[in-house]
Amino acid sequence: MKYTSTRSKNDHIDAAQAIIKGIAADGGLFVPDEIPQIDNAFLMELLSSSYQERASKILSLYLPDYTDAEISHCVQAAYTNKKFDTPAIAPLTKLADGKYILELWHGPTSAFKDMALQLLPQLMSTALQKTKQKNDVVILVATSGDTGKAALEGFCDVPKIKIIVFYPQHGVSHMQRRQMITQKGNNVAVIAIEGNFDDAQTGVKNIFNNKPLNKELHDEGYELSSANSINWGRLLPQIVYYFSAYCELVKDGSIKLAEKVNYSVPTGNFGDILAGYYAKRMGLPINKLVCASNSNNVLTDFFTTGKYDRNREFFKTISPSMDILISSNLERLLYHITGDAAKIKTWMDELNEKGSYTADKQCIAQLQEIFAAGWVDEKQTLTAIKDVYDAYDGYTIDPHTAVAWQAAQNYQQRTGDMTPMVVLSTASPYKFNDSVLTALHADTGNADDFALLDMLQTYNKSSVPAGLASLKIAAILHKKTCTKENMAAEIKDYLKHC
Ligand SMILES: *Cc1c(COP(=O)(O)O)cnc(C)c1O
Repeated sequence: MKYTSTRSKNDHIDAAQAIIKGIAADGGLFVPDEIPQIDNAFLMELLSSSYQERASKILSLYLPDYTDAEISHCVQAAYTNKKFDTPAIAPLTKLADGKYILELWHGPTSAFKDMALQLLPQLMSTALQKTKQKNDVVILVATSGDTGKAALEGFCDVPKIKIIVFYPQHGVSHMQRRQMITQKGNNVAVIAIEGNFDDAQTGVKNIFNNKPLNKELHDEGYELSSANSINWGRLLPQIVYYFSAYCELVKDGSIKLAEKVNYSVPTGNFGDILAGYYAKRMGLPINKLVCASNSNNVLTDFFTTGKYDRNREFFKTISPSMDILISSNLERLLYHITGDAAKIKTWMDELNEKGSYTADKQCIAQLQEIFAAGWVDEKQTLTAIKDVYDAYDGYTIDPHTAVAWQAAQNYQQRTGDMTPMVVLSTASPYKFNDSVLTALHADTGNADDFALLDMLQTYNKSSVPAGLASLKIAAILHKKTCTKENMAAEIKDYLKHC
């Protein structure tokens, strides 16, 4: 198996190289040139395996240039009891018959990004050794809140790698900001951008595509790479938990082997749900993938009409990690559906130049067979948190999870499809305590972030994650801000002085 770009047929590279590079030279994203197929025997074997073993088996299908020992080492180093607060790593909670929550927030930063960003640094370090690359890698991250901290946690003090995170100055929650600006480590920089997430992401993409700058950095001993979900090494680990959740359902007798399930996924950059698409294409019995959006409902419109149009109002919502108008990973999906790199390049150029493109009818018909899209407004999101709390014995979900929960309810009502539904829970409620407490009608008064943590603890059964509790006394280490035009200069400045 080799990796190629979504926009041309020029590259045919190994997984290790795709992971080091992050993004293809033509601006496209790396995709596997075939999708491995599994059968029931493969699933049977996974049933009795640990999360780590499941991860090793699935990863090895996509990383033929890594040895089994290398993969196992990476996985064991990533999913440890030191980093994750439950040995299940990604536990599945049953709320009622046919209704399940896949908790992806038991890692060090309390959001699902840890599932991939604990593993990516391991995959990248191994890749650097395998390819004997001399230059250091500089990871650039644009974050809508959760990726930044998860990447910082994953990459801090990893040899031969430096990491620079750009976050929208006013576009992340207090807790998210605090998590980032207190980050320790000798190889980290955290910078606020005067703009929104799309500005940060576009800025980073432009830097990757800036050939003179890349050459200059190369000559100084640096190669740029990405820890955003445009990096294949971010996406791959996410395929695992779709399988793992399925195995748990079979194991506890909720479904029989080969019976289909639905997954509802709170979606921003389309990375999480795309991993579900790979799982389905590999042969995991998935019926529908519900693509759940907040008021930034560009994907709902796309799956309904075939027109992707980012020319619309941008809303700041209570699910900020989904406040995105350009969903990068959709490009990979469209490539796999059409198999036509030239077409993808045209659409992406149109998106870049005029902010919109329209997929052809055949493509959309295929997408609609697999995906059901829906969006949930702010009021419904708050109501969903309260509904779940009241109906399921005080079970507390965060606003992102609430969007996926409500989109799943709406889908079931609209279609009558009562296939067992797994809702992906992407953040701990403690990470968004303000909104969650508002939803539960708590009187928050003037309470600060840490008083809110304690207050939420009186409602919620699970305890405050250690990583959030410790922020109270953590020193603020990063105070820089910059304009989106100045990002390249900031990078050069950091590399000169670090
Ligand atoms: C990043 C994130 C999402 C969106 O995931 P994508 O892969 O960008 O679609 C949803 N919820 C939370 C809490 C997140 O951090």
